[in-house]
Amino acid sequence: MQGLNRLLRYSASGRRQFLRGIVLRILAQLFAVLPFFIAWLALSDVQWASGEWQHWGALWAGLAVCMLAQLAFSHFGQLDCFLGSYALMGKYRQALAEHLRRLPLGWFARHRIGATSALMTDQVRRVEDIFSHMLPEVVLGLVTPLLFALLLFAVDPLLTLALFAPLIPGLLLLWLMTHFLLRGVREQGQRFAMASGLLVEFVSGIKTLRLFDRQAAMLTRLDKTFADIRRASMGMEAWGGGGVLLFRLLAEGGLVVMFITAALMWRDGQLNPTTWLLFVLVGYKVINPLIEAAAWFTLLRVMRQSAARLDALMAEPTQAEEGEGCQPANNDIRFDNVSFGYDDRRVVENISFSVPEGSVTALVGPSGSGKSTLLNLLGGFWSPDSGEISLGAVPLGKLGARELYQRLGYVMQDVQLFDGSVLDNVRIGNPQASDEQVMAACREACCDEFVRLLPEGYHTRLGEGAQRLSGGERQRLSIARMMLKESSIIVLDEATALLDPLSQAEVQLALTRLARGKTVLMIAHRLRTVEFASQILVLDGGRIVAQGTHAQLLEQEGLYRQLWQSQEQDRLFSEGKMA
Ligand code: ADP
Ligand code: MG
Repeated sequence: MQGLNRLLRYSASGRRQFLRGIVLRILAQLFAVLPFFIAWLALSDVQWASGEWQHWGALWAGLAVCMLAQLAFSHFGQLDCFLGSYALMGKYRQALAEHLRRLPLGWFARHRIGATSALMTDQVRRVEDIFSHMLPEVVLGLVTPLLFALLLFAVDPLLTLALFAPLIPGLLLLWLMTHFLLRGVREQGQRFAMASGLLVEFVSGIKTLRLFDRQAAMLTRLDKTFADIRRASMGMEAWGGGGVLLFRLLAEGGLVVMFITAALMWRDGQLNPTTWLLFVLVGYKVINPLIEAAAWFTLLRVMRQSAARLDALMAEPTQAEEGEGCQPANNDIRFDNVSFGYDDRRVVENISFSVPEGSVTALVGPSGSGKSTLLNLLGGFWSPDSGEISLGAVPLGKLGARELYQRLGYVMQDVQLFDGSVLDNVRIGNPQASDEQVMAACREACCDEFVRLLPEGYHTRLGEGAQRLSGGERQRLSIARMMLKESSIIVLDEATALLDPLSQAEVQLALTRLARGKTVLMIAHRLRTVEFASQILVLDGGRIVAQGTHAQLLEQEGLYRQLWQSQEQDRLFSEGKMA
């Protein structure tokens, strides 16, 4: 039960209340059991023949006390269980969300969105169920029969043993069958995660799939996954349901064994009628909660796997929000012998360079040479396998995420726009900015013209995915965002590579304004845009193969000169064609 134990730690007051609730409910059960024995005790010494008995008053009083106590304990017990589990789960959800917020951004690239959201919704709900329903039910379902068993044993050991004997093989069977069930459930969980991942990909990629007429293939794959799930579910029902059914048969068999034993005792004159009546009345009360507990127990074991999966999520290392109080002295960036691979394969190797504050450094190189990876490392999306990256002489590890993202402004190829107006979307850069400031930033970033042409200008809602804006327009909005943010370091990842020539020119102008006076680290596809950089790093196969200014690099025989010449040729060719 380690997983559940850990859960109990999230709120001390919630835990206290929850446990108190369970104790109260156990007491309530005790008072539900006691009247039978009080009656048995009182009535076993009645001299029925003489008709004289003095203790009726005491008997009624005892029964009344039991009933009231049972009512009170069960009411407050349920209340405490409910409120306690509510508090625990509230804190647990908070902790999960907080944890998720602080995971390095790279984590999200490694995990399907569908699987993560399934984890956050389905699995959390299951864990919640454990606390609000199952755990109390299982505890009560086991404690009540135990109380009865103890008292019955005091009354008549032989009959009690007869009643409980068949339970032992029943428990063994139940244990075995849930073992197989659990294995199925684990596989089922993986299938579900995969199905929801596929589903998200299907929905978000439906446009591409249709354009390539691939949706049928994807649907077949989805169908197959769901058929697998259905088949496996049926198997699990068999194991889980079968185990509980067998247990029930054996548990009820206890009543039959008890009946036969009683008949034999009766024949031998060893059984008095009050005792016999007590066992008949109470027998079912002992067996029924056990059967229910068995069903709950099976479910509980299944649900604990959800807790384990969430535990695994909680164990993922996070980025510290606040650093160790080190303030970067300036905005110099240093990479010191940095190596990194997403998996076993090294993607960048022994990278060292520095970007002095206020200078422009460009990364160029063939696609797949590791340029984006270096920027992702700088953003803390991933941590280097070895080596160190520092900002203003403070290693990234000691710099909190907040301080880091305050200083870094990313402009990426794919711009995320959220549901909300143009103003809302740009204001993400600085929530305190006034409408005037937002509009000024938009003018600087060459957005004003196209925004005014939108149906409601700056108040036009940009729906999910903001389909109505072109790539260049989205790009310029993201630059306006960065202008509001006023971060001192600008990181650009091929911001103009995917745009048509006209949009390129406008985005380029916006970028030039954004970069003015900033420290800039940029990836550029077209070398024309980095001609003026203070330094250019040429990457190939994850290593820096050359480094210098445009003029210096052109003088050398090498990759840069090749790239430049081929791009110049293309340019002259297309300009020549147009002329
Ligand atoms: P560039 O930006 O220079 O085109 P990248 O840094 O994007 O290159 O990629 C470098 C190498 O790392 C490529 O071989 C790419 O396939 C691999 N890579 C990039 N991102 C991931 C990832 N999230 N998981 C695994 N491999 C990746
Ligand atoms: Mg790239």
